[in-house]
Amino acid sequence: MSNVKSNLISIQKNIEKSCVRANRNIKDVTLIAVTKEVSVERTEEVIQNEILHLGENRPEGLMKKIEAISADVKWHYIGSLQTRKVKSVINEIDYLHSLDRKSLADEIEKRASTVKDCFVQVNVSKEESKHGLSLEEAELFIDELKDYSRIRVVGLMTMAPNTDDDSLIRQVFRDLKELQTKIAAKQQPHAPCTELSMGMSGDYEIAIEEGATFVRIGTALVGKDKEDE
Ligand SMILES: *Cc1c(COP(=O)(O)O)cnc(C)c1O
Repeated sequence: MSNVKSNLISIQKNIEKSCVRANRNIKDVTLIAVTKEVSVERTEEVIQNEILHLGENRPEGLMKKIEAISADVKWHYIGSLQTRKVKSVINEIDYLHSLDRKSLADEIEKRASTVKDCFVQVNVSKEESKHGLSLEEAELFIDELKDYSRIRVVGLMTMAPNTDDDSLIRQVFRDLKELQTKIAAKQQPHAPCTELSMGMSGDYEIAIEEGATFVRIGTALVGKDKEDE
């Protein structure tokens, strides 16, 4: 397996090129290393390379990493979160990327000890296999969150459709950006909505060109080494 450092160097070059193409500041793009498929050791390698935003998608994997890792990192929970798991997860993480229903918001309100930075997950492409609200539902849902004292909607999150058609992927990111801009313009205290969590190993360059401020990269950065543990 190639080492994290060389993967990181090429990813950072690509991020930089995408920023240049889109006339964006590279400082506005944060790389989240998705470590869900890899060991604690591999995750430590990421941290040694000064990537301090880590993404996990299962409560068990998250807790295992948090217990083993002492570095001061930001934890992003990127998977769909079962309501009954909120209690054990919510006060361990810095960002939740998968807020997609009222029952989840209610449980966060009950269990979070401080205000939690959340992304509302949007299923722009309306693929059946994907979680998230439609673009229309997301806007109403965010309005309704104004009465929740423990939820701050920092932005929107989506996953691109499974397709080789880059123009379709680009359109999904564009639609999300358009909704984000619209919600941010409302200047609601509970929903600054300035961030866009979009782009994975196969499509992060397009996502950055379309405005992503957080990209979630797993395999291209760390590979998959869980089998070797
Ligand atoms: C696994 C995962 C990623 C990372 O995917 P890669 O293709 O390995 O980069 C990003 N976002 C979410 C929500 C994921 O579940």
